[in-house]
Amino acid sequence: MSDIEVDFHHDPNDIEHMQFDIRYRSSSINSSSGQTLPKIKILGTGGTIASKGTSAHQTAGYKVDLTIEEMVQSIPDLGSTCELSYEQILNVDSKEIGAKELQVIYNAVVDNIEEYDGLVITHGTDTMEETAFFLQFTIKTSKPVVMCGSMRPSTAISSDGPMNLYQAVVIASHPESRDRGILVAFNDRVISGYFLKKSNANSLDTFNAIGQGYLGNFVNNQIYYYFPPSKPMGVSYLPIPPGFDFQFPEVTVLFGHQGFNDDLLPLLFDSIKIKGLVLATMGAGSMKDTTNKVVFELSNKFKVPVIYSKRSMDGMVTVGSLPKFEGSPCNNLIASGSLSPQKSRILLQLCLINNFSVDTIKSYFKKVYGGS
Ligand code: ASP
Repeated sequence: MSDIEVDFHHDPNDIEHMQFDIRYRSSSINSSSGQTLPKIKILGTGGTIASKGTSAHQTAGYKVDLTIEEMVQSIPDLGSTCELSYEQILNVDSKEIGAKELQVIYNAVVDNIEEYDGLVITHGTDTMEETAFFLQFTIKTSKPVVMCGSMRPSTAISSDGPMNLYQAVVIASHPESRDRGILVAFNDRVISGYFLKKSNANSLDTFNAIGQGYLGNFVNNQIYYYFPPSKPMGVSYLPIPPGFDFQFPEVTVLFGHQGFNDDLLPLLFDSIKIKGLVLATMGAGSMKDTTNKVVFELSNKFKVPVIYSKRSMDGMVTVGSLPKFEGSPCNNLIASGSLSPQKSRILLQLCLINNFSVDTIKSYFKKVYGGS
């Protein structure tokens, strides 16, 4: 007989927003020392971890088709570390996550963070970096918020989903996981959500923080941290303004490459009316001279900030690497520091919704990498 009781809190026909509590029978609510277990909630959003393929060797081209309830019930021992609840807040491939979905995730974190000792968010790996970064800036909490996902669908041989979810729950339950910012549990490692990078499109060891390293390692059912708790350098709190409707200003990312077509730029500023531009430059801020000139003129004409980021996975674009235009009083060009183009886009959007001046936006970008 199962030792799990499931309570439905919401209309069970509302599959978009199902919420369950698993109450393990009293014998498992208390740890062996008799202490009350931490209350942890999993917020399910989809991704490969929630996917099924048509064969055991299929590791690409599968579909999101598994609920958070099915996932939780397939993992033995989850209830021995915590009192667990879970809620299906979305069930999508993370490539489909935009402002509306981000709002759902943000609201779910805000709504639950007080009541629980820690939260776990299951999420697709393709855009986990972006959601983690967004939450790092907009959620102020000491409690662990741990993201996880998988590279193999649930139907694949050696699927990594169940272990990643198990480890995420254990990490969220652990008191030493507090005050570390958004965390990611993946492939036996704990990684800072702020520095997170997806480095491989297929392999299980895809997530790392090149240059900054892992925060800890997972063995058996234990997390071993390498460092005492601390938030990443330069992380600021940029709250979502009250009443904000999640209509983010349009900020586009352009990828630098040989033979870059400068004619794209007037289209973005003039026709699409972007409110910000991020350049994934070819090195530490390098775009060809004609591109820099057009970018400089258009950004001044339309008063649109332009972030110089880089397409390389590691390293920085500092202020000193920005193109120079002698004698111009107005300069809307900003260095991304170590931020990737996709993270730069989010930081710029958060600055724009707070109506920051270009000088203030520059100071926020400097802060994130400690630059000057
Ligand atoms: N396509 C998936 C997603 O990001 C990839 C994954 O989760 O690994 O939702």
